[in-house]
Amino acid sequence: MIEILALHAFDDNYIWLLRAGGHVAVVDPGDAAPVLRHLEASGDRLCAILATHHHGDHVGGLAELVARFPVPVFGPLREDIPGVTQALAGGERIELPQIGTEFEIIDVPGHTRGHIAYYGPSLGDDGALFCGDTLFGAGCGRLFEGTPAQMHASLARLAALPAATLVYCAHEYTQSNLRFAVAVEPGSIAVQRRSEEVAAERAAGRATIPTRIRTELETNPFLRWDVPAVRAAAASRLGHVPADAVETFAAIREWKNRF
Ligand code: ZN
Ligand code: FE
Repeated sequence: MIEILALHAFDDNYIWLLRAGGHVAVVDPGDAAPVLRHLEASGDRLCAILATHHHGDHVGGLAELVARFPVPVFGPLREDIPGVTQALAGGERIELPQIGTEFEIIDVPGHTRGHIAYYGPSLGDDGALFCGDTLFGAGCGRLFEGTPAQMHASLARLAALPAATLVYCAHEYTQSNLRFAVAVEPGSIAVQRRSEEVAAERAAGRATIPTRIRTELETNPFLRWDVPAVRAAAASRLGHVPADAVETFAAIREWKNRF
């Protein structure tokens, strides 16, 4: 039985822990302190670190953790992250023997140039995806280092995973993302319903993550480039009908930057 636990860091980051038989692997430890507190309180032993991309809120705790626990550190090949011991370009499979699971590595450039995601098809009943700052609840990461075409292709890859897959992204942004989703698709009952559900969860102090691929396909404007209402919203921003899905995605992303 593998447990997946959330540690909170900074204002709205999640550091995900995979826990089995007294071992833990940690995803995107932007801060070492909450991880160290967990290890002390539980007696668990750290067995691996997984990093999705080079931003400080994802790897800031890495140096302190590896100084104390010399464990394998997985991270993107196309980014310079000190401490990474297993560099991954996408397409590989990695094993976490102490946890008893494996991941397929998916190359998802766009937010950063080498961003990778970790997909565990046999993790839990439905599979699990750790996607850093690429796909969020009802949103997606900003394009800091990549092009709209790259991010569109990356999101399309994630959208093609089994619909029930649980999505563990690295930030609690769902509620504010949904305010934008409502602006893009004011006529969508699914977006409206999710907004109300998420508002209730947040009011009760609960996390809205993990989400599922299915939920994102139904309500995330950054995966809905083929939906007429989203294409129409893009057209009204652009002043012309978007030529293709990439132009639709780019227009929606640009709108969100100013929203
Ligand atoms: Zn980031
Ligand atoms: Fe981040």
